[in-house]
Amino acid sequence: MHTPVTIIGAGLGGLTLARVLHVHGIPATVYEAEPSPTARAQGGMLDIHDNNGQPALQAAGLIDEFHGLILEGREAIRVLAPDGAVLLDEADDGTGGRPEVQRGELRQILLDSLPAGTVRWGHKAGSVRALGDGRHEVTFADGTTVVTSLLVGADGAWSRVRPLLSDATPEYAGISFIETYLLDGDTRHPASAKAVGGGSLFALAPGKGIQAHRESGGTLHTYVALRKPQDWFAGIVFPDSATAAARIAQEFDGWAPELTALITDGETAPVLRPINALPIEHQWDRVPGVTLLGDAAHLMPPSGEGANLAMYDGAELGKAIAAHPDDVEAALTEYERALFPRSAAEATEAVRLHELMFGDNAPQGLINMFTGHE
Ligand SMILES: Cc1cc2nc3c(=O)[nH]c(=O)nc-3n(C[C@H](O)[C@H](O)[C@H](O)COP(=O)(O)OP(=O)(O)OC[C@H]3O[C@@H](n4cnc5c(N)ncnc54)[C@H](O)[C@@H]3O)c2cc1C
Repeated sequence: MHTPVTIIGAGLGGLTLARVLHVHGIPATVYEAEPSPTARAQGGMLDIHDNNGQPALQAAGLIDEFHGLILEGREAIRVLAPDGAVLLDEADDGTGGRPEVQRGELRQILLDSLPAGTVRWGHKAGSVRALGDGRHEVTFADGTTVVTSLLVGADGAWSRVRPLLSDATPEYAGISFIETYLLDGDTRHPASAKAVGGGSLFALAPGKGIQAHRESGGTLHTYVALRKPQDWFAGIVFPDSATAAARIAQEFDGWAPELTALITDGETAPVLRPINALPIEHQWDRVPGVTLLGDAAHLMPPSGEGANLAMYDGAELGKAIAAHPDDVEAALTEYERALFPRSAAEATEAVRLHELMFGDNAPQGLINMFTGHE
């Protein structure tokens, strides 16, 4: 390989790939659209699973650094009824296998583990074209170009690399999340902090729900879910925070005040996050010199797996390239052969989970899943 592996996107997937390649002595360059590592808050907690996210960090040689980030006790789960009654309350006994960390801190240990200059910030890929013989030319928004013999699209949901491989584009999954943050919950929002408990809260009903996490510093981070068409949200002016929050809260009329406060009492503006997904069976025929990982390959409704899978893809691809240093096609074939069935199985599971959470049997479907009574 005569050019560094060229990775588009410095999310968790692209960075894990770059790091695993580095561990194997293979140079890589990551081109990232954002101008700097701090350009956007990386908010949110991620549970990192022992069957995908953690093995990826092991392959990256960063498992000890990861252990240093774990927030103790955050695997606790509470399911509340709309009136606030406790339906399920499971403490974190330390045996869950899904420890929680802050996404920004996880990204930082990956960034810190790469040689200086590996990530080229402020490089938004605009277009990509095939030059033949497995080579590709990427043109960035500023007009500069790079030519590579191994291109990896790790550029998320709206990947600019994906069209080289597939015609698929993400479609609205029929549900949107509204994200809010209540800061310093124990002091400023004690009733809501108590409702959330030490880890995750789920308050669900058919077609809607309030999910919240206790993050570091007592921050209460909430995703309010509503199964509604995108047009419905278009009528709400999100920059007008108070009015938008009040309108969303109307959908939860009659719910316990400590739950609706998670919508209305946020210290930051509520952010609308429409949920999109690629087809469950999304795959492509082998195209020389290019592949995808993470959301670019298999965007699915949030199921707590997306970041884990992106990291796992990155590690698996890195290992495959290291195992076939002189044969890019053998590496990509091996990687994709496992990627496609793995992604389809996880996407099927994500759709099933959303049905348990927001379908007609909510919240009982989710409780059955947590208690092993499905
Ligand atoms: C509301 C919500 C909640 C979620 N909660 C969880 C959770 O609890 N646990 C979990 O595991 N997953 C969760 N996910 C999914 C998870 O966030 C994604 O699956 C994961 O971030 C995918 O990683 P990635 O590296 O593939 O892509 P991304 O994280 O999207 O990273 C892509 C990177 O590419 C950059 N980029 C994009 N376009 C270009 C371009 N043209 N040129 C250069 N760079 C570009 C972006 O700036 C970004 O840095 C959630 C998703 C949503 C929407």
